[in-house]
Amino acid sequence: MNDTPGPLLQSLPPDLIRRFAAIVGPEHALTDPDQQLPYLREWRDTYFGQSALVLRPASTAEVSAILTLAHAEGIAVVPQAGNTGLVGGQIAMRGEVVVSVARMTKVRTVDAVGGTMTVEAGLTLAECQQTADRAGKLFPLTLPSEGSCRIGGNLGTNAGGVGVLAYGNTRQQVLGLEVVLADGRVWDGLRALKKDNTGYDLRDLFIGSEGTLGIITAAVLRLLPKPAEKATAMVAIRSIEDALALFNMAQQAADRGLTAFEFMPRLVLDFVLRHIAGTREPFAATYAWYVLIEISGAQADGTANRQLESILTDATDRGLVIDAVMAQSIAQARDLWRLREGISEAQKPEGGNIKHDVSVPIASIPVFISRANAIVERICPGARPLPLGHFGDGNVHYNIAQPTGMDKAAFTKLTPQIMREVHDLVMSYGGSISAEHGIGQTRRAELARVKSDVELDLMRRIKSALDPKGILNPGKML
Ligand code: FAD
Ligand code: ZN
Repeated sequence: MNDTPGPLLQSLPPDLIRRFAAIVGPEHALTDPDQQLPYLREWRDTYFGQSALVLRPASTAEVSAILTLAHAEGIAVVPQAGNTGLVGGQIAMRGEVVVSVARMTKVRTVDAVGGTMTVEAGLTLAECQQTADRAGKLFPLTLPSEGSCRIGGNLGTNAGGVGVLAYGNTRQQVLGLEVVLADGRVWDGLRALKKDNTGYDLRDLFIGSEGTLGIITAAVLRLLPKPAEKATAMVAIRSIEDALALFNMAQQAADRGLTAFEFMPRLVLDFVLRHIAGTREPFAATYAWYVLIEISGAQADGTANRQLESILTDATDRGLVIDAVMAQSIAQARDLWRLREGISEAQKPEGGNIKHDVSVPIASIPVFISRANAIVERICPGARPLPLGHFGDGNVHYNIAQPTGMDKAAFTKLTPQIMREVHDLVMSYGGSISAEHGIGQTRRAELARVKSDVELDLMRRIKSALDPKGILNPGKML
């Protein structure tokens, strides 16, 4: 991991700092290292950055003025929203100016009837959900980091999460965008249209571009009908092969009502129970694999519960489910979800952790996991694979905890070798080396290795067309 910044590439003369500070007001232009700290350190302490200046604009006009000046002077900037990204894309490593959108938190409009809301990039994901909820609607993007991540960052990474199965990833929740371009011009694409075939789709180009093509300042988001009821169960299964059959049964029975199907092995549950306060063992016995299933219903008439019960009964009869607990109250459902949501946090105290965020066709998940485990065991005997994630999306967070008692640094040193072999395996199944977290710094070298020359060439040409001076998030993604 790149946890020590290289030499400072960019320091700013006092005169330039004053000109940037005049745009946002001196109290929002941070040069003091203590004040900068929350913008330079990411939550797992994997990357620790350095910046000549952290700017906290309050409006699109201020972002535009910042980029106009940065472009004229050739100053590199790193866009940042909630600083929860997992691939170091939001961390300035070489002195770049950090542009945080965290103060841009206005809800510009809510149109419950038309099913849209227009919000600024700094609104947290939880606030987006609450805004929708107050309008009697659902904003379906759901991440464990939702209290801290901000919609600008979700758009920048095209975030996924547990609701993708039913609702799609961030891209699917967006109708329009407002983006400040590298030269400071503002592209007003805040259209609330479901259909718009007027040329190249600029919106989709910016979504998932990880701050390398422009700074997203606002978005028109889709609002959906709110489910009236939810049924939640944790089930135990013998093998990951059985998850595939269970998933097919659940999808057949509930169709789009199947709103979550998350899997984890016993070891992950062990970590959660050990490290996350307030969690409880869901069953009297322990099992090899667990699946969290949620079914949502449009009417509060018990259909969701009946569907889930019937799936569990059928699956038990067929020997797929060996134990099951169905939530009898909202509090019990929350307890089951806590077992899933605590996973990221629970891995930290177990020492070094090598993370992959891959996707493969769902029928290949079992064989992928078993072959990846063999790779890990060969390279680092005793390392503890933690394959978990969003089964229905084919998205495996193939994380690996260090062997108990091993030196953390020695384990972390194996990252490039393990990552390369796991990614080669993923590519052999026609998979992707990043299903939802993005490329950032962590997977930049791997992206260049696994993408075709044609694809890389197109990506580089798009980058240089939109950011000819290369001032937007240099050293990330490409
Ligand atoms: P940041 O970390 O600030 O930035 C992320 C990237 O977007 C950077 O490259 C940055 O330059 C760019 N960016 C930020 N703001 C803008 C902007 N306004 N315009 C253009 N580019 C911008 N992710 C998932 O997809 N699924 C998960 O289930 C998930 N679970 C997580 C659980 C935990 C506990 C944590 C800590 C993280 C998790 N993440 C997950 C990762 C992270 O929360 C997401 O990537 C999220 O979308 C990042 O949002 P952010 O506001 O924190 O962005
Ligand atoms: Zn995930």
